[in-house]
Amino acid sequence: MENHQENQYRKWFGEKRGRLAAEAFASKGWTSHYAETLEEAKKLLFETLLPKGASVGLGGSETLAAMDILTVLRNGEYKLYDRYNCPDHFEMCRDSLLADYFLTGANALTMSGEMVNIDCSGSRVAAMAYGPRHIIVVAGVNKLCANLEEAARRAMSAAPMNCKRNNHKTPCTETGVCGNCNTPARMCNQLLFTLNAQKFKGKYIIIIVNEELGF
Ligand code: SF4
Repeated sequence: MENHQENQYRKWFGEKRGRLAAEAFASKGWTSHYAETLEEAKKLLFETLLPKGASVGLGGSETLAAMDILTVLRNGEYKLYDRYNCPDHFEMCRDSLLADYFLTGANALTMSGEMVNIDCSGSRVAAMAYGPRHIIVVAGVNKLCANLEEAARRAMSAAPMNCKRNNHKTPCTETGVCGNCNTPARMCNQLLFTLNAQKFKGKYIIIIVNEELGF
């Protein structure tokens, strides 16, 4: 009973914050959507936002993995730059910079409509900064931060978990704490602040989901 109540209030809080953040992103030039569940976000993505036949690039994302988007994207109805199934990952990521749509998660969002991402090779943040015709970001309300400082801290704090996920041999995968490493395995090399999206109207699309997604 207590858990149910906790979840009920968490969902209420998530909805309030998620909807407010979606409004803030809209005010910064994003096309923004709020979804109550990941399933709802997936329906919106494939039934409304992503046209059949489009070329699609991908950023590594736990949130997108949880949506199981690859099953749909590999069904032949899209031209997928499949970075998870290709002979040359580097070239595939380069090619996907010119995709019609680039799908990704986010490391952190602010309640004022800004986004912060950290990246290893830079392929994801490069795409998010310029290249693909459209960027679609799917992010849970757990990614919402009060301001840019908190968002940057949040993005940095995800690095050890990303290292673990990608099996990088870094100090943080041993200790859980950043050792400011200086090796090719280092995950946190590029930090991108996306502050405003008015430059290219319709390019940036976000779905804020009232669930805890990714880390
Ligand atoms: S700098 Fe190195 S040790 Fe620190 S979080 Fe990044 S990958 Fe881990």
